[in-house]
Amino acid sequence: MLLCFRIFRFDPSTDKEPYFAEYEVSPEPTERLLDCLNRIKWEQDGTLSYRMSCGHGVCGSCAMRINGKCGLACQKLAKEYEGQTVTVEPLPSFKVLKDLMVDLTPFFEKVRLIRPYLISSQAPPDKERLQSPEERKKVDQVIRCILCASCVASCPVSNEDDQFLGPAPLVWAFRYIFDTRDTETKERLRQLDTPHGAWGCKNHFECTRVCPKGIPVTKSINMIKKEIRRFQ
Ligand code: SF4
Repeated sequence: MLLCFRIFRFDPSTDKEPYFAEYEVSPEPTERLLDCLNRIKWEQDGTLSYRMSCGHGVCGSCAMRINGKCGLACQKLAKEYEGQTVTVEPLPSFKVLKDLMVDLTPFFEKVRLIRPYLISSQAPPDKERLQSPEERKKVDQVIRCILCASCVASCPVSNEDDQFLGPAPLVWAFRYIFDTRDTETKERLRQLDTPHGAWGCKNHFECTRVCPKGIPVTKSINMIKKEIRRFQ
């Protein structure tokens, strides 16, 4: 199998403009697009830059835009692209550091803003803070978020409004708002009750479509909106 790649290239220290470079790879059908990028880098062009780590859909490092859709290169089977030209670009709406690597600092700053950790006014118990299986079920889906930023890069609102918190930070807010052990619920909801918080979401559903972990992102944001109304 022969796959043709068009890969976005841009080195701000030497290039005036971004351009696309073309490569050909002959992967095994069971290989992923990330394996193809590795073959290009290791066998053809060592200057190509991208992020990767686990290679198994766990770390979220290899998020990029592939044929117009954001996702993890390690989750895309090469054989699914047979007969196509594979266009690979960095995640949109972030500053390109080099080639497929973007600056995720603003993304992580927004995640930090929502205080992504358990806050409890209760004294710590001798062992862990327990939850029932039913209580845990409420956050089962959102807990899978790996902070790959594909949702934010695909969100039409995030692309136009850099003040909007964005889907992933809202998913992390959901994780603690609906965690029965967290006692900061009201304050968390108050923080999201703004045009750039939960209300910034206009239900485009792009985040849900691209999430590599199958998280119902838009539905979760809508549940936050419902909870804000309930506490008003
Ligand atoms: S919600 Fe999904 S797409 Fe968004 S950062 Fe988490 S894993 Fe990635």
